[in-house]
Amino acid sequence: MQNIDNYDFSSKKVLIRVDFNVPLNEAFEVTDNTRIKAAIPTIKKVLAGSGSVILMSHLGRPKNGPEAKFSLQHIVAEIETLLGNSIDFASDCIGKEAQEKAANLESGKVLLLENLRFYREETKGDSEFASKLAKLGDVYINDAFGTAHRAHASTAIIASSFPNDKMFGYLINKEIKSVSQVMENSVAPVTAIVGGAKVSSKIVIIENLLDKVDNLIIGGGMTYTFAKALGGNIGSSLVEDDYLELALDIIEKAKSKNVNLMIPADTIAADSFSNEANTQSCNTNEIPEGWMGLDVGEKASTENVASVLSSKTILWNGPMGVFEMETFQNGTKSIALAVAEATQNGAFSVIGGGDSVAAINQFNLADKVSHVSTGGGAMLEYLEGKSLPGIEAILN
Ligand code: AMP
Repeated sequence: MQNIDNYDFSSKKVLIRVDFNVPLNEAFEVTDNTRIKAAIPTIKKVLAGSGSVILMSHLGRPKNGPEAKFSLQHIVAEIETLLGNSIDFASDCIGKEAQEKAANLESGKVLLLENLRFYREETKGDSEFASKLAKLGDVYINDAFGTAHRAHASTAIIASSFPNDKMFGYLINKEIKSVSQVMENSVAPVTAIVGGAKVSSKIVIIENLLDKVDNLIIGGGMTYTFAKALGGNIGSSLVEDDYLELALDIIEKAKSKNVNLMIPADTIAADSFSNEANTQSCNTNEIPEGWMGLDVGEKASTENVASVLSSKTILWNGPMGVFEMETFQNGTKSIALAVAEATQNGAFSVIGGGDSVAAINQFNLADKVSHVSTGGGAMLEYLEGKSLPGIEAILN
C-alpha cells in the first residue's frame, strides 16, 4: 500500500473515487457542499505534485441507465468554485470521450466523469467495468468513506488493477484513524453512547462495543425495550417485543464483562408524539398508560453527562430522544455539550452515524469534537466490527 503523503504524482493520471453524492435543489444547485469540500485536500495534493486528477463518483440512485436529474454535470460549477479552477467533464464515465479526455489531460488539470451508477455494473461490482475505468488512469485513490462498505466496481474491484499504485485519500485516512483510535487504540475510560429509535438496528454495534468500553450509555427509543425486558411499565413508548430476550442478554453480558451499562432511570414522557404534547417526568419503569417516553429524564441526563466528562475516549452514535422536537432535545443536547467539553479537556471523541451527526450540527458543536464521520452506513458497519471492502481492497 502506498501513502498519499510521499507518493510521486508527477505526470501521473490519478483516478480518485470521491463521494460527491450531494443534495441538489429543484434548480439542480448543490444545497450542501460538505462532501465536495471534504475531498478538496486530496485533489489539491495530487495537483500540487504535478499530477492530473480524474474524479469518479455516484449521485443518487439512478434505476436504469442515464437520468438527467442525476447527472454530475450539475455539480461542476460547485467543484470549480471550491477548487478555484475550471475542470473538464466527460458525459460518460467510460467509452471514447472519457478515454480521449483522460489521455489528453495535462498535469495540474481535473476531469470529472459522469455518474458511475448510470451503469448497473458499478453496484454489481463488475470486473470488466472496473477495468475500463482503471484504464483511464495510472494511480487509484479511494477517498469515499461513505461507500467503503460496498464492494462496487469503483470502490473496491478497481483496486486490483493498481497493485503498486493504490492508496487512501486524506478523508478516508482520517475516518480510519479516528475510528480505530476508538475501537482499537483507545485510552480508558472509554464511553460509548448509543441511542436512536430501535434496538434492532444497533444490536450488533452494542454487542461489539461491550468488548471495548467501560461505560455504555443507552438512550433514545431503544431504552424502553430494555425497560420492558426488566419488567417495567413503559406506557405506549416505542418497543420491540421481539428483542426483549436479547435486551436481557445484553444486560447479562455487560455484567460479565464489567461494563457499566447505563439505562436511563428517568424519562420525559408525553401524551402524544408532538412538540406541543403535555409532558411529565417519571421513572422509566413507571410510565403511565397512554404516555410515551420521548427523551431521557433529568437524573439520567446528569449521570450521562458526568460519565462523558470523566472519559478519555468517547464514541457517540444515535440521539438520546426525539431531538428534532425542541421539547425533547434536552437529553441529546446535554450529551452533545458534554462531549464538546470533554474534548476540550483532552478526550478523543468521534460522532458517527446519521442522526447524532445531524444533532451535533444542529447544536453547532461539530468543530468542538475530535471527529465527525461522513459515512453513515460505512461507519455503522465499521462499528459492528465488519471489514469494509473499500478499505480491504487498498490494504491487501
Ligand atoms: P436512528 O436512525 O436509529 O439513530 O434513530 C434516530 C431517530 O430516533 C431520530 O429521528 C429520533 O427522533 C428517534 N428517537 C429518539 N428517541 C426516541 C424515542 N424515545 N421514541 C421514538 N423515537 C425516538
